[in-house]
Amino acid sequence: MINESTKKRNIINFRGQSKKIACLGCARAKGEISVGDILKSKYFDAHQDYEIPIPGFVIISSKRHIQSVDEFTEAEQQDFIKFLCRLRQGIRKMLKISVVYLIQEEDTSHHFHVWVFPRYSWMQKQFGRKIESVRPIMEYAKKNLKTKNNLKKVDSATQKLKIFFEQ
Ligand SMILES: [Zn+2]
Repeated sequence: MINESTKKRNIINFRGQSKKIACLGCARAKGEISVGDILKSKYFDAHQDYEIPIPGFVIISSKRHIQSVDEFTEAEQQDFIKFLCRLRQGIRKMLKISVVYLIQEEDTSHHFHVWVFPRYSWMQKQFGRKIESVRPIMEYAKKNLKTKNNLKKVDSATQKLKIFFEQ
């Protein structure tokens, strides 16, 4: 289990808006942050990544403040796999993304979340493949992709997914 840290820190989204929070997952579960909403179930929440402006970079977070899959209840276990598969189907169908990386780090300051990290051809050309390319891509996106044009693409991807799941 992770302790619910009371130490709040500033987190800045890719639009430059900053917010003081302790745990991003808890802030979402309490409704303090709702930008980039895509899909919700009783136990999980999928949304565009808060800090990195890559279209279709989706985060799945649990609603409860837990650290690891081994803390899932029976109901969460069943919901999670359905939720993940449904989300992946939407990403493939609406965004035509043929490859994603699923990454879950248990040693973060926020509670349980999974990165659904899309792979685009520019990533491979500039940064190569596999896990070691991911952090440099994220740093690059943070620095260079906050352009009006790219933020439009991010919003459009979020909207497409949202509409897909509303059907
Ligand atoms: Zn939390």
